Amino acid sequence: MTEHISPELERQLKTCRGLPSPPTYALKIIELVNDPELDIRQAVKVFSLDPVIVSKILRIANSPLYASQRNVDTLQMAILVLGLNATISLALSFSLVNGLRHNQHDAGLNHPLYWKRTGLAAAASRVLGIYSELPCLEELFITALLQDIGMLALDRLCPDLYGESTLNQHQHTHVINHERQKLGCSHATVGGWLLAQWRLPDRLHMAVTYSEDPLQGSSDDKQATFVRCVAGAGALADFLLNEGQDNTLRNTMEKLETWLGISREHLPNLLEEMQPVLTEVDNLFDMNISQAVHPEDLIEMARESQLLTNLHICQEVEKLKEGTMNLETQYEQLQNSAQRDELTKLYNRSFLDQYLEKIFKQSLRDRSTFTLGFLDLDHFKQVNDTHGHSVGDQVLKAAADILQAQIRGSDVVGRYGGEEFLIVLPETPPAGAQEVFCRILETFRQTRHPISSGQQIGVTASIGIATHSPEQPYSTIGQLIDAADQALYQVKHHGRNNFKMCEERPTSVMSQTSPQ
Ligand code: GH3
Ligand code: MG
Ligand code: MG
Repeated sequence: MTEHISPELERQLKTCRGLPSPPTYALKIIELVNDPELDIRQAVKVFSLDPVIVSKILRIANSPLYASQRNVDTLQMAILVLGLNATISLALSFSLVNGLRHNQHDAGLNHPLYWKRTGLAAAASRVLGIYSELPCLEELFITALLQDIGMLALDRLCPDLYGESTLNQHQHTHVINHERQKLGCSHATVGGWLLAQWRLPDRLHMAVTYSEDPLQGSSDDKQATFVRCVAGAGALADFLLNEGQDNTLRNTMEKLETWLGISREHLPNLLEEMQPVLTEVDNLFDMNISQAVHPEDLIEMARESQLLTNLHICQEVEKLKEGTMNLETQYEQLQNSAQRDELTKLYNRSFLDQYLEKIFKQSLRDRSTFTLGFLDLDHFKQVNDTHGHSVGDQVLKAAADILQAQIRGSDVVGRYGGEEFLIVLPETPPAGAQEVFCRILETFRQTRHPISSGQQIGVTASIGIATHSPEQPYSTIGQLIDAADQALYQVKHHGRNNFKMCEERPTSVMSQTSPQ
């Protein structure tokens, strides 16, 4: 669900006097950003207004981050080395950070911690951007740098917000939950709103808005990666801030994997690549983050945890090899029985849960489509009540056989609960899925189940359908299941023995109104 600023909060923000604002110099650069006819001469004129910024631009153009052959000693040359847009983003980063840091006030927010996370996230954004092959690293850098700016605004607006003794500001998720609880929205939404007010480009303030929930962010490929890199940079910063505590390691890895397809074994390399960037951020912003975190220890820790996982797997394999019996068969049987439902022999709920998580993550990574059918037998209670529980069981088994027979090898069907089944059709858009479900329902209608009394009984089914696709993505697998469940509810409501596609579009950026 997309989060919005309530009209009341917006009114308060608009009238709040001390809200962070860009210094005059930064305003001039924002004008450059919005000028469609911008040329280098004009940019040089604006940059030259602040000699400190000029020296910073020269410094970065000469830094190892931009391996230039020559000594860059003029602003014009720096622009050639860095590119005009990149120079603008950097100049804006310097002037905004400068302005915001010198205009701090003491309320509940832990400012040193705030700037530490900000610097770490900016540095992290660069390595994630390179990993994801994004062309606009400086724009990413400034966005990562500004992603928590909503906290500065909220700290001004509600001086008590971050001061509560129960709030652990080191845990970013605690902070977010706390804000949502107190104000109904998080600093990410407020930050995006603020940057839109400053007239920063859409792509930038949208990425801040979705920095806590990047899967909601965008259906445009490049912008989606941009948003995910900003959010991933925040996650990596949290890992560094919390010195790699076990749960942050796990959380960070999960986020990087889901959002950017970065697997666990890449973490040590990423951390290593971050080191020179941290030093550069320290130099440019007069920060002290490369000293304050100990990446060497964390790299070691990430390596070790990788090593331990591998070691564990090796030990298990060794154990299996040592056995004298046909362990492979035993293992397979064990694995199989843990995944299967005893009555119907279909996959069980626990397998389905894992499988759905997996296919959902996979589809986000490779932008594939899959369809989910939620099937529930009609008036099944009556079967039990009229003919007894064992006949009920027999019909459930027969229903499972119908389902298994009607799907392809690559599809998956499992028993989700009592007389409820999930059918997953990978790589299948709605039209193809409807054909399958139509066929399944027809088979149910035509099948008669002989029972011990000599009678034959029939049972029909209802199916709710939802499709996850790059065009209409769901944010979580839970939401996709809910959507199918809702559609099923409607089939039941309208007389059963039918199927229905979920009509409500999942919430994605296309269906939201963007901030003004
Ligand atoms: P609806 O069309 O609205 O789904 O009606 P329903 O009667 O199917 O729905 P309800 O959820 O009220 O009843 C489900 C029934 O399924 C009740 C429960 O006893 C039966 N059931 C669930 N699991 C089993 C099982 O393993 N064996 C048998 N025999 N019955 C089961
Ligand atoms: Mg039911
Ligand atoms: Mg039912």
